Amino acid sequence: MNIVQSIQDLKKSIRETARASGRDPEGIRLVLVTKTVEPSRILEAYQAGARDFGENRVQEWREKKPVLPPDIRWHLIGHLQTNKVKYVVGQAALIHSLDRLELADAVEKQAQAKGIAEVPCLVQVNVSGKESQWGLDPAQVADFVGQMPARPAIMLRGLMTIGPLTEDQEKIRECFRRTRELLEDLKKRFPQYGWDILSMGMSADYRIAIEHGSNMLRIGSRVFPRDGAK
Ligand SMILES: *Cc1c(COP(=O)(O)O)cnc(C)c1O
Repeated sequence: MNIVQSIQDLKKSIRETARASGRDPEGIRLVLVTKTVEPSRILEAYQAGARDFGENRVQEWREKKPVLPPDIRWHLIGHLQTNKVKYVVGQAALIHSLDRLELADAVEKQAQAKGIAEVPCLVQVNVSGKESQWGLDPAQVADFVGQMPARPAIMLRGLMTIGPLTEDQEKIRECFRRTRELLEDLKKRFPQYGWDILSMGMSADYRIAIEHGSNMLRIGSRVFPRDGAK
């Protein structure tokens, strides 16, 4: 399958899963994850209508970005080092991986320096425990969020999580269910923020994520096979 067909096939699957879960497919955004994917293949996806792309390595992204169309909305989805923040603030449409105060401070400082009023961010939460290195423990999230109003440029939009890398469907459901519950709790406790984005679901688990309320899927290998095969 070529990229265009893969995207059409994926969108069809997203629509079917959404409808089966009683959800409006229009409310689910697709971010194509293009780490290790060459610009020419990203452009094929762009020409097929995709506009949201996700990268997790700042250096790689910085090399690709200038040769791709300027209306792409880039999502920073991976662990972000503070010394790379200067390349991301004002350049990424959404940072999915806000996970510590030190990073929030660096984002705030860059925004102030560049005169950028609002930097849209998601708090990354680690519900699957040992499976992932990054993200806040769910028990720490409310405390972390409570410290964001003192950083006025940080505009919190929602949560991001990475599902556990397991075949155990029940574990994956549990992870997505808990992330959704956490989002609902934050909506009540911190009404000054939007909380309109729930970024969860990758190639292996996006259907389960849709069933649990995800409205932003981050999908890479299902559209761009890693071995480079077309
Ligand atoms: C690579 C990556 C994805 C996409 O994963 P696939 O399994 O290739 O769909 C999504 N989110 C993050 C944070 C990633 O690093």
